[in-house]
Formats: sequence, C-alpha cells, structure tokens
Amino acid sequence: MKLHEFQAKDIFRKSGTPVPDGQLVTASDQVSKATQVINGPPWVVKAQVHAGGRGKGGGVKVVQSTYDVVVATEAMLGKPLVTKQTGPDGVAVNQVLIEEGVEIDREFYLSMVVDRSMAMPTMIFSQAGGMEIEEVAAKTPDLILKEHVNPITGWLPSQAGNLIYKLDPPAPPEVRKSLMAVMANVYKVFLNNDCSLVEINPLVITKDGKVFAVDAKITIDDNALFRQKALLDLDDPREKDPLELQAEKYNLNYIRLDGNIGAMVNGAGLAMATMDVIKMAGAEPANFLDVGGGANEEMISKGFEIILQDRRVKAILINIFGGILRCDVLARGVLAAAKKKRIRVPLIVRLEGTNVEEGRKILQNSDLKFLVAKDLAEAAELVAKQVS
Ligand code: GDP
Ligand code: MN
Repeated sequence: MKLHEFQAKDIFRKSGTPVPDGQLVTASDQVSKATQVINGPPWVVKAQVHAGGRGKGGGVKVVQSTYDVVVATEAMLGKPLVTKQTGPDGVAVNQVLIEEGVEIDREFYLSMVVDRSMAMPTMIFSQAGGMEIEEVAAKTPDLILKEHVNPITGWLPSQAGNLIYKLDPPAPPEVRKSLMAVMANVYKVFLNNDCSLVEINPLVITKDGKVFAVDAKITIDDNALFRQKALLDLDDPREKDPLELQAEKYNLNYIRLDGNIGAMVNGAGLAMATMDVIKMAGAEPANFLDVGGGANEEMISKGFEIILQDRRVKAILINIFGGILRCDVLARGVLAAAKKKRIRVPLIVRLEGTNVEEGRKILQNSDLKFLVAKDLAEAAELVAKQVS
C-alpha cells in the first residue's frame, strides 16, 4: 500500500524527522487559509499522487506569491499529472500539498528497503540526491552507499557514520548529527510501520545548516496490513487500477500486465509458469491471476469476470491443476461468470487433477465455446495462435 507524500511526512514529523510545514488542500478556495499559516514566500505547491518524477512533470512548483500558489494549485487540481512513472494518461490530482519553501544547499538521497538476497533491511544513502536514483546507480554507482541492518542489533550509530563520513565535501558536525538522527528515525519508521520502502529524495541541508525531508515516500507491506489497522485509513483507492481493486475485494491475487492474453490459474507458482510458457509461445500475458488453492465458486466467477472486463484481452487461458480447488468448482465458477458477461474472445481450457472428469463434463454440457488443451505447452500454443 502506497502512502501519499503528505501522509508519509505526517509519520516523519511524529517520529522526529524534520519536514517542512505544510497544508493539504482539495480545492483552490482553501489556498488563502493555507498560505496564512504556512511560512512563505517561497511556497512549494505539490501534487499528491502515488508516482515519482512529479518535479519534471509539472507537479511541483516553487512560487513567490500567494497569487501564484492559487494559480499553481488550480493548474494541478482535478487534472491528470503525467510523469515518467504514470504512463501516458497520467493520474488525476485530487489533493495538493502547500509547503513552506526551503533554501536548499545540498540534496541527498536516503532510503530503506529490504535486500531480499541478504534478507535484511538496507539503508541506502547517496550524496547525489534530488535526481533519479536509477540514473545515479547507472552513471555513478560509487556514489551509492549501503548498510545492511542486522535486525537483532538494529540500526547502529557506527553504520550512520560509515555513510556520513564518506561525504565529499564533508558535512559540519551539527549537520552530521542531524543526518544520524534522521537515519535512525528512518529505520524506526520502517520497522514500526512494516514498510517495504521508506524514501527521502531529496533529504536536504538548507543554507542555514538545517536538515529537512523535502520529499517523502512510504510503501507499507500489504502482508502486514492485518496488524497495521491504523494505517488502513491512509489507503487511497482512487489511484488504483479498477480491476485490481475488484480483485482485492475478493482476495484474488491479480496484477494487470501489458499483454493481451488473459490467464486464470490456481497457485502462484503455476501462474508464473503459465506466464512463462505464454511468453515462450510468442504472446504476452495481460495479467497475473492466481485464484488460490482454496478458491470457491464465487471467487472463480469473480476472477473470470475481471478478465472478461479487460478490453485488451484477445484470448483467455484457464489453466487449473485441481488439488484443494476441485475442477468441478472451477467449471461452475466459469459458467456463472459466463452467464453475467458475454465471452467475446477465444477460450482455451486446460484442466487436470481433482474431479477433472466432472469439471470437463460440466463445461462440455454447457453452451460455452472453448478449446481443450491436453497440457500446458499445448495450451500456450493454442492461446498464442489466437492473437498472432
Ligand atoms: P518528485 O519530483 O516527485 O520526486 O518531487 P520532489 O518532492 O522531490 O520535488 C522535486 C524537486 O523540487 C526537488 O528535488 C527539489 O529540487 C525541488 N523542491 C521541492 N521542494 C523545494 C523547496 O522547498 N525549495 C526548493 N528550492 N526546491 C524544492
Ligand atoms: Mn523526490
């Protein structure tokens, strides 16, 4: 679950990491009240969307008058913002953050992620902040420093030292102290909120030697949301793909992809393998959909409906290896969905496992039109042929 910048900054503020003062507005008539309480000029007007690269896309404006705060806010609110990370259609801006502008002297990059190969949280720090970290990694990898955190000892001051003492030019003692505090805080925030990402880019030093998180990004690990109930209120479903939102409601593991082959599979491993064979057959999957081992008829039906709603889908592959999920349950679910939504593309079915005979019979005795594949390879070839 992604948080907005203003939500991430609230968390930072509470945990002791300095952030600029700010006010959220959802309509331009709230601006004058905001500029009365927020120091400026300059003010910074920032579109709140779950995507980075806003600066270059016109979603961050530093302005010098209250009039220009209104102009910048009106230019963002209710309109799509297109950045490198949003795709060509952009995302609608529903909220704008108005902040006091700070005078930037230096910009750093600071984040914490899980390094899966080491199975440890990892602090990443770079003195080349402000720009895209991918670019820094590609051009000047030496400028990216990392510290793995042993969860037993936690984040150690000596580790902050490892990152900070390599700064060139060096930072004065007061600034070093503030940076160390921010790093310790980032680890605390990461841990306490079950984050998969905490990122500050840029973390700035102002001309008068103060440290501020000027940008903030937090992603919460979805698997931990059951014990992070307070954070659930911060969810903003407006930015999610509508089909992914439906899938979430029914506990289906569904991710939209760029291709045109819809696939419904049980089990994440089989879903991965199915995507691989679709690609090997020369086609591209439109989605990842794992209905799960314990899917019931309603979940199957809903999952199939979601695929049927996807306009880009040109052929559908159902690949089920029945275990706990019985093939007859699958067949009934598919028929239930077909009753609600017309199937306007070729359907290829490969069924194996528990109650497979009954499942096949149910499908064959229906008026559903479909092709049967004897194994996964044939299924992928058949489905790829439909779109080539
Ligand atoms: P992003 O482009 O989505 O990552 O948005 P950021 O919050 O990082 O803002 C983009 C850029 O705007 C930053 O890298 C800064 O250079 C600039 N910026 C943001 N806030 C301020 C500010 O208070 N003062 C100044 N001078 N620049 C700012
Ligand atoms: Mn940024």
